[in-house]
Amino acid sequence: MQNNFNATPEFAKQLDALDQIRPFRNEFYIPKNEKGEESLYLCGNSLGLQPKRAKKYIEEELEDWAKYGVDGHTKGKNPWLNYHELLTQPMANIVGAKPIEVVVMNTLTTNLHLLMASFYSPTPRRYKILIEADAFPSDKYAVESQIKFHGYNPEESLIIWKSTDDKPLLKIEDLEQILETQGEEISLLLIGSVNYYTGQYFDLKQITKLAHSKGCMVGFDCAHGAGNVDLRLHDSGADFAAWCSYKYLNSGPGSLAGIFVHERHAYNKNLNRFAGWWSHNKETRFKMRDEFDVLPGAEGWQLSNPPILSMAAIKASLSVFEEARFPRLLEKSKKLSAYFEYLINNLKSENISIITPKNTEDRGCQLSIRVRNANKSLHRKLEEANVICDWREPDVIRCAPVPLYNSYFDVFLTVERLEKILAEI
Ligand SMILES: *Cc1c(COP(=O)(O)O)cnc(C)c1O
Repeated sequence: MQNNFNATPEFAKQLDALDQIRPFRNEFYIPKNEKGEESLYLCGNSLGLQPKRAKKYIEEELEDWAKYGVDGHTKGKNPWLNYHELLTQPMANIVGAKPIEVVVMNTLTTNLHLLMASFYSPTPRRYKILIEADAFPSDKYAVESQIKFHGYNPEESLIIWKSTDDKPLLKIEDLEQILETQGEEISLLLIGSVNYYTGQYFDLKQITKLAHSKGCMVGFDCAHGAGNVDLRLHDSGADFAAWCSYKYLNSGPGSLAGIFVHERHAYNKNLNRFAGWWSHNKETRFKMRDEFDVLPGAEGWQLSNPPILSMAAIKASLSVFEEARFPRLLEKSKKLSAYFEYLINNLKSENISIITPKNTEDRGCQLSIRVRNANKSLHRKLEEANVICDWREPDVIRCAPVPLYNSYFDVFLTVERLEKILAEI
């Protein structure tokens, strides 16, 4: 693919002209700088842009609330009682799961705790948790606190999968080695499907197979995977997964999160769990007097009746995904990130290296670019040049060209501006 690329604005525009996804850019508000110029927004891995239709979807629910009050639960256009069910199938399509395996609820870190209540049951012989190097801090804190909650010591019980050669990318052989020596002591593996820092997309199926062969439970944090890569969660065989909806899923700041619980656990009523009335049988929920009767599948992990206004934004965003069709997005994503990679490599700068895997199967759209001797002023200069990306200490900029709204010309201009800034510093 790469060999046919060309580092000219005409070529980038030509790729845009051939891009079937291109019209979807108009479905989003693109932020602008003070001069009113559209930003080069490569930060969809932190906060996805607002779909223009989100407002309409939210307003519909505000109107039903005004019109019906409490009766909106049953009489609204989209009755709130079952509103979350409208999100299940489209969300399941994106993460490659069966509807019974998925529900939208709470926020990501909350869900990780709720899922660990079920899938981290340490015993004196098997009590450790394994996470990947450079795991997202919230996940590390969550896992450490779970370990402590059960009376174990994180210093001894938290195992980090890091690479033995000190390179940023992780290798499956190193994980294999850890499992070989400590597998029987590890209760749970909790791994980012796509690492937030390096952009490395792990082989979920292989990790799960390895871990299961040692009797460990497996969960994936798909915050950087959902809406970005082809997760195929059901086929991976993982026990559970969780993800937020405000990054690649464009559902608004702090919006609700998704969970996946593999079908094999769907009818297991003996799993430990924290319950609430929303995990109780829908038929008898409002009798209010019955013994707790857990719902099958992922719905059985819900606690509360959910915030409908936030769900309306998710519904709006998922409808854009349905129209754009996820497989087409994945295809564009690979080509767009490959073009971005080509342009960066074409700078032939000794100070720049891409730490994200080269193989498009091993990454999503994000490229993490290491700039030798750089500091945060590089990020400030990019911002002044109207490039919105993300800076990670000590020397990495993370850029995510998102297929739904970024263009080939966006990445062309980004690299052109980066080159100019690098020449100045
Ligand atoms: C973004 C992100 C989070 C954020 O957690 P919230 O509970 O939504 O604030 C957690 N973990 C990972 C891996 C993330 O990428």
